[in-house]
Amino acid sequence: MSDAQRILKTLLFSLFMLLTTSVTSYSSSASAIDTTIEKVQTENGTTWVLSYTLNTPSDRLVFIRNPDSSRTTRWLPKNSDIEIIYNTVEQQEIVRSKTGKPISKVSFLLTPTYKHLGKDYAPFSPFSNGGNAFHSGRLFACANTCKDEYNEWPITLKVPSGEHIVLNGKVVSGSASWVDKNNGRQVYVGKQQPIITDSAVALIDPALPESIQAKLKNDMPKIMAYFSHSLNPLAAEKPMLFASYAMVDGHSSQGGTLPNQIFMHWNRNDLDKRAENSDFANKTLWFFAHEAAHLFQPGNTDGVSENDEQSWLHEGSADYFAALAMNYLYEDANSYVKRRITHAFESCTQGLTQSTLANAYRKGHFNLYYSCGMVIHRAIDSVVQQKTLGEESLFTVWKRLQKAVSRGMPPGTATFLALLEPYNAPELINAINNATSDDASKAIQGVEALYQMN
Ligand SMILES: [Zn+2]
Repeated sequence: MSDAQRILKTLLFSLFMLLTTSVTSYSSSASAIDTTIEKVQTENGTTWVLSYTLNTPSDRLVFIRNPDSSRTTRWLPKNSDIEIIYNTVEQQEIVRSKTGKPISKVSFLLTPTYKHLGKDYAPFSPFSNGGNAFHSGRLFACANTCKDEYNEWPITLKVPSGEHIVLNGKVVSGSASWVDKNNGRQVYVGKQQPIITDSAVALIDPALPESIQAKLKNDMPKIMAYFSHSLNPLAAEKPMLFASYAMVDGHSSQGGTLPNQIFMHWNRNDLDKRAENSDFANKTLWFFAHEAAHLFQPGNTDGVSENDEQSWLHEGSADYFAALAMNYLYEDANSYVKRRITHAFESCTQGLTQSTLANAYRKGHFNLYYSCGMVIHRAIDSVVQQKTLGEESLFTVWKRLQKAVSRGMPPGTATFLALLEPYNAPELINAINNATSDDASKAIQGVEALYQMN
């Protein structure tokens, strides 16, 4: 064979492999349900209608994500024969026919207000001007049972004229269709045009206090640049940033990340007043920096579960990276950062008397992953710098973790802790093992030892 023939043969073979693998992976991993979500203009405003069309009629529909039973009250079936019930044994919501008819198409009216889901992303993040971001993963449904291999969700979104969609950083009018996967994504629907900067495509609620808007526009790019320089830069396209302000009688704020997306929602109406407080500015910056740090964590694109005992790795490092970014970028924030670190140590040791890190996510003490995790990462940073005479730092270890994960290693604590071995710091490893152990007094001792390593 000539070189040209060999190249052609290789090309044809790769093309063949590409076609066959994509076809088989689609048929084995699709749930065979078409999902359509539509924002409809009505006489009294707008409504959101969600429909599922099944290729093969089935007895029931269930969902991939089951954080609570709120679909039973917030999703209103359009057909009176359809109901959503919560099955306590299976711990999931089930869509079924009251008279036992097989389901081939069902529609629901959705409630597009903010609903806090303790262990999941909020379904809707309303903007003050009528726009909304929604989480597509909330819609992922399966006929009968969700099989582990299902990971492709064909979704069509339709919006009324005068409004548009922002999907993956692009503005689309009318409708958009895509095949979703993993943990889903945030999609914007409304009248607001995104701000496109060098570091992000941003949808920032115009009702947010000026000071917060300025931070999002000016400080967020600085924070992203800091992480990009300290860790490996993001390979993907520009990340999306959503900042929504519901201006309702609520009292919460929530931030989160999905692959290449950061979102922050304030479900309250008192930000103008709060923004006058100087700690509030630092708290907001910390919040942005924490979420931005998540984007740089390996495994982010694969949808790492944040709800397990390994969360100290991701939450703790995001908090410590936020501390480093703030210390580096804002000199006048140093005393605030110091206070947060002391506070983290105190609330970690205090919290460990009630739950170990291994159990914290089951017992509702999720904040321990932030506080104890930050103490752990701070100690690693300090020990690595000492052992390498300042040549390396925690960022070096995280860069290696990024590399290891890109080569196929699991993005969890085992891979991370193995990367600490070469530093020959048994006292550090020992203290981390104690801090994360199942024994409360050992855990507190471990955290105290880590806190001293500075
Ligand atoms: Zn986080």
